[in-house]
Amino acid sequence: MRRPIIAGNWKMYKKDYEAFDFVKNLKPLVSEINDRTIVICPSFVNLAKVYSEICDSNIALGAQDLYWEDEGAFTGEVSAPMLSAVGCTYTIIGHSERRQFFGETNQTVNKKILSALKYKVFAIVCVGESLEEREKGITFQIIENQIKEGFTGLAKNDWEYMVIAYEPVWAIGTGKTATTQQAQEVHAFIRGLLPAEVAQQVRILYGGSVKPENIKELMAQPDIDGGLVGGASLKVESFAKIIKY
Ligand code: PEP
Repeated sequence: MRRPIIAGNWKMYKKDYEAFDFVKNLKPLVSEINDRTIVICPSFVNLAKVYSEICDSNIALGAQDLYWEDEGAFTGEVSAPMLSAVGCTYTIIGHSERRQFFGETNQTVNKKILSALKYKVFAIVCVGESLEEREKGITFQIIENQIKEGFTGLAKNDWEYMVIAYEPVWAIGTGKTATTQQAQEVHAFIRGLLPAEVAQQVRILYGGSVKPENIKELMAQPDIDGGLVGGASLKVESFAKIIKY
């Protein structure tokens, strides 16, 4: 049985006091939940403040990215040991916005995964095709490359720290959700690409306009193990509803 994960990606939203108030209000609404993992991924500057409020709760802290070196002259970057030191147990890697706007590639995703692993930070690794790629009929080829190149060099035990998020780029922030059939089809394909000895254990989340109205149906699919939620994670009520699907 794979333990579901509901993760909120706040992107570049919320100032520190807004982030703090959000988790203060969310905490009591989800305190009884113990059969799934809840993760909140604020911006780097808000990690410590959010952690001060959730450290004694069932909500885990995640970052939205990291850099693969431990330390050094890399202005503006944040490393895995820095994340770990402020209470982060998760980090998103390879989000499509990072691939699209900040030059992230399958090779940099791989370096980041290996760095997260070194510090035992769980990696939520995003894959997904653009609308153009879907229309060209190359969705599976794109996903296969992202998985094979992104996860190069992992040993069997490393997979325990890996979470995959399938996020069709055309469904992110657009209000368009993939149909449950489209999502399940790609999730099953991804599971088929994983090493046989770990395939049934790895959690594969769906992301792309997840809302309180569609989470239940998505979660009913055999290969969907949770959600990576952007817009609908920014309001306490909607995120709580998604968590409690
Ligand atoms: C995301 O940011 O990963 C995402 C899926 O966003 P949204 O839920 O807003 O589509």
